[in-house]
Amino acid sequence: MPSNALDIPADVAVCPYCGAALYLEVEEWDAETRQPTEAGAYIHCERLEELEARAIGMRRGARRADALNAWYKAEAQHEQMPYVYWLPVQVKVYRLFAQHCRVLDEPNGDTRLVYVPPPLPPAEEMRRAGAAPLPGF
Ligand SMILES: [Zn+2]
Repeated sequence: MPSNALDIPADVAVCPYCGAALYLEVEEWDAETRQPTEAGAYIHCERLEELEARAIGMRRGARRADALNAWYKAEAQHEQMPYVYWLPVQVKVYRLFAQHCRVLDEPNGDTRLVYVPPPLPPAEEMRRAGAAPLPGF
């Protein structure tokens, strides 16, 4: 996984093509709030990345040809009707996960992506704290 990347929890989204885990990569963020922009937040399928890395890492030969074919086949599958399969997942991942991430500066000059959970709505916060619900909640 590249820097500025985080695993996307499976309860937020999985790959709409193969069901594998997804990760978020951020290439653009607001300078003040450190929040990823929607256009600069990319999601990637971990299985597709693994197939690519495996194929590229192999020496020439029949096994490499098989690995390349598996990668090309998966890549073609992952490019079918992106507006139907990919776009809704991108929108959901941004709304539920990416907009709650922040890009932090590291002492060595690198940046790191972190998830900051959104604040709970007041009633939910009180319930978790064990408080009796207010009338009307
Ligand atoms: Zn996939």
